[in-house]
Amino acid sequence: VASLISPRDLGLPEKFPAWRPGQYESIEAACTSETKFVSNNAPTGSGKSVFAAGCSSLLSTRTVILTSTKNLQDQYSDDFETMGICDMRGRQNYDCVERKHASCSEGRILGCKSSGCPYIADRNKFIDAPLGVTNYSYFLSSILHANTSKRKKSEDGGDREPESGGLGQIGLLICDEAHNIPSEVCSVIEIKIDHSKNQDIYNELNIRPPYRQALPVWREWAIKAATPVAQHLEAMKRAEDAAKRGISRVHKLASDLARLASVSNDWILDEFSSLGDTIVTPLWPTEHTHKLLFSQAERVFFISASAVPKTYSILGVPDESLLSLKQKYTFNPNRNPVYLFGPSRIDSKSSDGQLAEWIGRMDSLIDRREDRKGIIHTVSYPKQKFISTHSVHRDIILAPRADALARILRQFRESPPPCVLASPAVTTGYDFPYNFCEYQIISKVPFIDSRPPIMAARNESDPEYLPYLTAQTLVQTCGRGMRAEDDQCENFILDQHANWFLRPPEPPGKRGGRKGGYLHLCPDWFQLLIRYPRGQPLPPPALSV
Ligand code: SF4
Repeated sequence: VASLISPRDLGLPEKFPAWRPGQYESIEAACTSETKFVSNNAPTGSGKSVFAAGCSSLLSTRTVILTSTKNLQDQYSDDFETMGICDMRGRQNYDCVERKHASCSEGRILGCKSSGCPYIADRNKFIDAPLGVTNYSYFLSSILHANTSKRKKSEDGGDREPESGGLGQIGLLICDEAHNIPSEVCSVIEIKIDHSKNQDIYNELNIRPPYRQALPVWREWAIKAATPVAQHLEAMKRAEDAAKRGISRVHKLASDLARLASVSNDWILDEFSSLGDTIVTPLWPTEHTHKLLFSQAERVFFISASAVPKTYSILGVPDESLLSLKQKYTFNPNRNPVYLFGPSRIDSKSSDGQLAEWIGRMDSLIDRREDRKGIIHTVSYPKQKFISTHSVHRDIILAPRADALARILRQFRESPPPCVLASPAVTTGYDFPYNFCEYQIISKVPFIDSRPPIMAARNESDPEYLPYLTAQTLVQTCGRGMRAEDDQCENFILDQHANWFLRPPEPPGKRGGRKGGYLHLCPDWFQLLIRYPRGQPLPPPALSV
């Protein structure tokens, strides 16, 4: 069938002249399935964007594609421009046409009365377009806002605004980077109050937050503080320079307080995950994921390189409603091996001698690879500092702090070899194809801290949750340097904790004996890449520049 129907027949752009192996079969299986949900667990290089656009064409239904990053949104927009894909971004990207020096987000807070402006026009185009792309954050907050508006409207019995959000009927919702859905939903529904930003409001209105108190005490505080903050917001709206004076910040605090005032006791209060912030979030975002995402479309297709069955169980997708498609790993695994090559377990108990041996192993890997560039994933900034000061290669190591990352990344990309980037911040969302990076050193298994209340509560509710997050980070990290069939990137995990962590699970009935066994939390294609070398692997010839 694949030879009879070409990408052109489905209206795909000329730059996709032929199907990759198994690509059309996946599109057909997804579109003819009777299940509401389809997961396409597609490794890098399997052509996931063509899968998305192909499904949209074959089903001939209004399709919205969701992405986590601006880069991926741009890529969809560029790749499928000839198909008329409509790219939609949030209100903060528009200047308000009614008010000088205000964005559309600020204009809405100040009382938007217009129904004819660029934001509304673009949103209407997006709703009418057969194929659209946007990001999770805009999509989820539009639905959340539309639901709140609808509720208020029915309570008030009238129209509140010329438009009330919402993004229209959707036939097919494609959730790219589906492994990110829980965190995307959480970041939209959770209440996160940044106290350092609000200090002047607290002082002016005399509403000091009850730091380190239990959730009911915070709720009481929110109930009391809501009125003065709402009055302050109304007064600000009357000022000429409201946008300049930071009305968005006051509006956010007012809406956080309104939500906090009615939050139920089973939400988790966390003042430890992010210093200076108070976060209140549900134990699991499942119910909200269904309301804000899955109920918005007739069919929902997931695409992800790192999703595993556990991902869909966290999302609350019932097995019987899900068709799982697996794509073959089309790259040569020997071009992207993952070597478990740790000299010892690296943690707070590591001795000075073990740390010296660990640094020595990094150094000898770099010694043999001075004709190419590589990355050391350091897991934390203290470890970044330790590595970049103790390595004999410190002169060629770029070790940016968080605020200098963008600049140093540019420098790393432009530098000739030898050059090494040491950072804890590029495990996901950044690609380093071809000679931008030909080896990666994962200095330590990126275990998730179980001490913050949110993680502790989720860990108690599901003991495989934190290992799942660790496995996702490992898989995503190892994928940074291998982006195409003719690319190459060696990966070295220099922490013996990986040996028990990446062991296959014990057979049922035998569980509980040995520690670890979380290989099943990594996708099948990743499992093919794992190697246990006896000695130090020799590098392949470097790619030509
Ligand atoms: S929708 Fe309202 S707030 Fe936004 S740009 Fe238009 S007039 Fe301004």
